[in-house]
Amino acid sequence: MRLFDGQAGAGSASVNAFAQDSNGFFYAGTETGLYVSSGGEFTRADSGSETPFSHVTALAGGADGNLLVQAGQTLWLRSGLSFRKVPLQIQGNPQFSLSGKDFIVLAGEGPAQGGGLWRIHPEGEKPPVTERFVDERKDGPVPPGDPLTTQPLHALASAGDMLWAACGSALCRHKDGATTRFGTHEGVPADTWLALAVAPDGTLFARSADRLVQIHADNEINAETIPGTFSTSPASRIFLVATRNGTILTQGENTLLIRTPAGQWKPAEFLSKYNNSQISAAFVDREEGVWLARPEQGIMRLAGFPSWESYGSDRGFPSGRISAVRRDSSGALWLATSKGLFRYNAFRNNETAGEKPEHYDIDARSLLRTGDGAIWAAGKGSALFRIDPGTGKSVSLPSQAPLTGALALDSGGRLWIGTAQGIVRLDEPLHPTARLPKAIALNDRRVNDLQFDQFGRLLALTDNVLFRQKSGEDYFEPKLNLPDLGIGEGRSVAVTMTNDVWIAGVRGGLRKIEISENGTLSASSPDDLHDTDEITSLFRDSRGWLWAGSTKGLDVLTSGGWRHFDVASGLISNQISYGAISEDDDGSMWFGTDNGFSRFTGAYALPPLPELHTCIISAYLGSADIRGIPEVWPENERDLNIRFASPTFLDNEYIRYKYILYGIDKEPHTVNSSEAKYLNFDKNKISFDVQAIDPVNNRVSSPAHLVAHPAGNTGRSSGLLSWLSIGSIIVFIAAGATYRWYISVRKKNIDKAVRDRTRVMEEVQTQLRQQSRIDSLTGLLNRRTIFDELSYLVSALSPNEILAVALIDIDHFKLINDTYGHQAGDFVLEQYGLRLRQTSSAGVITGRYGGEELIVVFPVVRTMEDIIEETNAIHRILCLPIKFDSNTIIATSSIGLAFLSPGDTPASLVGRADRALYKGKRAGRNRVVVSD
Ligand code: GH3
Ligand code: MG
Ligand code: MG
Repeated sequence: MRLFDGQAGAGSASVNAFAQDSNGFFYAGTETGLYVSSGGEFTRADSGSETPFSHVTALAGGADGNLLVQAGQTLWLRSGLSFRKVPLQIQGNPQFSLSGKDFIVLAGEGPAQGGGLWRIHPEGEKPPVTERFVDERKDGPVPPGDPLTTQPLHALASAGDMLWAACGSALCRHKDGATTRFGTHEGVPADTWLALAVAPDGTLFARSADRLVQIHADNEINAETIPGTFSTSPASRIFLVATRNGTILTQGENTLLIRTPAGQWKPAEFLSKYNNSQISAAFVDREEGVWLARPEQGIMRLAGFPSWESYGSDRGFPSGRISAVRRDSSGALWLATSKGLFRYNAFRNNETAGEKPEHYDIDARSLLRTGDGAIWAAGKGSALFRIDPGTGKSVSLPSQAPLTGALALDSGGRLWIGTAQGIVRLDEPLHPTARLPKAIALNDRRVNDLQFDQFGRLLALTDNVLFRQKSGEDYFEPKLNLPDLGIGEGRSVAVTMTNDVWIAGVRGGLRKIEISENGTLSASSPDDLHDTDEITSLFRDSRGWLWAGSTKGLDVLTSGGWRHFDVASGLISNQISYGAISEDDDGSMWFGTDNGFSRFTGAYALPPLPELHTCIISAYLGSADIRGIPEVWPENERDLNIRFASPTFLDNEYIRYKYILYGIDKEPHTVNSSEAKYLNFDKNKISFDVQAIDPVNNRVSSPAHLVAHPAGNTGRSSGLLSWLSIGSIIVFIAAGATYRWYISVRKKNIDKAVRDRTRVMEEVQTQLRQQSRIDSLTGLLNRRTIFDELSYLVSALSPNEILAVALIDIDHFKLINDTYGHQAGDFVLEQYGLRLRQTSSAGVITGRYGGEELIVVFPVVRTMEDIIEETNAIHRILCLPIKFDSNTIIATSSIGLAFLSPGDTPASLVGRADRALYKGKRAGRNRVVVSD
């Protein structure tokens, strides 16, 4: 986790509440007002009435950009273009939640105390409709005695159309007009539940002063004690927030408490550097950033919370070296260890459930999975092993030369194998030969790693040379002499999404190589060197991140730069085994070490965009808010002092500032200190640019341009002290009272900067999304993403909604490859992708399921007839002839269509579509078959 923090004193505000609206804007509510940010600095938001917002205690962002604000005694709703008062008198601090497009408000303790639940329905430019929740619902009275109307209510949370409330000493779930109470009888201890949060998987978390309970979607309940319990004063609002991967954040005695998804509690160590590490409010935004409010000290935003799980002998796994970790298609976990190969069938929810694994006497260096579900193990000796997924039987394929552990699968399903004497290829791994064939290339070389570049050419890393496959041939061209790189013999290679090649050598250190379109390779500038201890493993994951395992832990290169993980982050050991980094189907990462293995989950937002961080300040754009600052500056003070602070960069001792004061400085200054002084300063207007530079991490902030001039003509009060946050820089200016400065930022430019920032954020996200989610050949979503989407849709479906999946398999595709060549096959696939994207209607999700199998997910709001009709239309268009060079290729396909039935999982639904598809194949191909 990386912390982007403001400097001491950078913000003096106390933030009570956070929100993000559906347009992505962030809001912070403080005693002095409501502030808004698009990701950079915060500016004050106005109510539009003569009294500005103050004493903002609760906020919620709704649909359509709506925002609900509690300011003082007044409740405001921004819906459409303006804020309007909601006619609801609220005592005490209300709590907000959402139900569809409506806001739910909990005010007071409950009906008995004159409070209760309200529903606010925004009506765009018209006044909102406000009604009592539950007992005045239009669709009929709630049964007498519904706990939501009779019990005191303490806390509120919602997910979808489900509303949770702490009611009396129990927890109540309200859905479809009915309330279910979870009390002692159901396993929820009687307590005062002060805060609720719903995790994305639907699990409810509730906490009291010293307890946490979870109610899972299947109604299973767990209760546990919160360590280091503290007594809460009734006045303080307890917060509890859940991140996407199930991490919980809540108040501890003196600091923030974090509970990992595995149930471990720990205090937030990163706060220990502050005198006061108390957190008063927390919020998780849609990019998985965690916002924390520190009393009187502004706010900070953290990156998403990644989660580490470690597995060693203490959890029943083999001790010692783990060379590879892989899952097979049934979800079983395979471990290549120094004690042999193990298969854990019942590895579920991160535990083995005490099962005895199957053991194979194979000392494997690496593991690979083929499309038929088989696991392949490159043995230390001279044999490759194939283990059948169904029978569990292993077959050994002896090789003429020892295997190095390098294994790669090409898009045609061929298996490429690195040996001490060249590259061996298995053309039909689904029907393997009795022994491995002779080497087809690099006969005299030790092939340590094999990877495909983005042009689909295989890169072979030998001890001294990086070779690259020539187009469509088994010939490998020498491309790069490794001795020139100074990293010793080549050990591993990885290719990024942008086709950069990274090479690690036996002597440690990492080099980035660029491949040009015409295939020339060149080592890039030394800026990209990342010298660390011996790098043992390089891996590029499906998000595009580059992982480098070494003898000192892990470094990961994301679009946000390098980041380090080691034992302190949760890794089981700092010694990553050779080639032991892999990715699971769900995108989590596996790391084998010299003693056990670790798994890294979640956190797609690992790299926070540095600009996203900000500190809230008591100034707003246009002019500095200098009220409330008591110092009176001596009349004759003529010095101008400038101080810079850069909350975006962590290690401030390294930070340099580059600034220029126009009209005074001839050239920009670069200073190590954060202060600058101009003596006897007598200009009445200054303007300058300032930029923070982080030479250690090679980053610079966006430059800020400031204009300051005497405040005399504005009628603003005296005082010459101001904090101003511009993007990622805070500038502090003090000068003599005679000048009465105030600072104004070129508002126009800032508005533009905010807009640019928003656009850049969107672009970066789109890029990231595309890099990791889209199959490059067909332009369709990749398999993992499709399954993510499908799981989400299946879980979010209401009873009588329809969901359907169509699986498409091209007929006799092997024949097309054989007749017209592999490139023609690829072209057909590409055309299939294009046609599928163009013909499917809005909302329909299309993906590449595997080799030449495509998948279509039809989400809700359609009739079965509609879906069948669309599937037939898709089929007609896909099967139109395809022109390739001088050939016209007829590539028909068969489609299996299945509708979700009760109890279906994504896998069982796809399974039925698959069976329907094969029915179609058996019946003669080129048809749509609907599963019954
Ligand atoms: P069927 O009608 O029974 O589906 O016959 P088929 O030949 O299509 O059989 P199957 O679906 O089992 O074979 C799929 C073949 O598609 C195997 C593989 O060689 C080829 N293939 C898989 N992915 C790619 C790819 O990305 N490009 C090319 N050119 N071929 C691929
Ligand atoms: Mg197929
Ligand atoms: Mg086929």
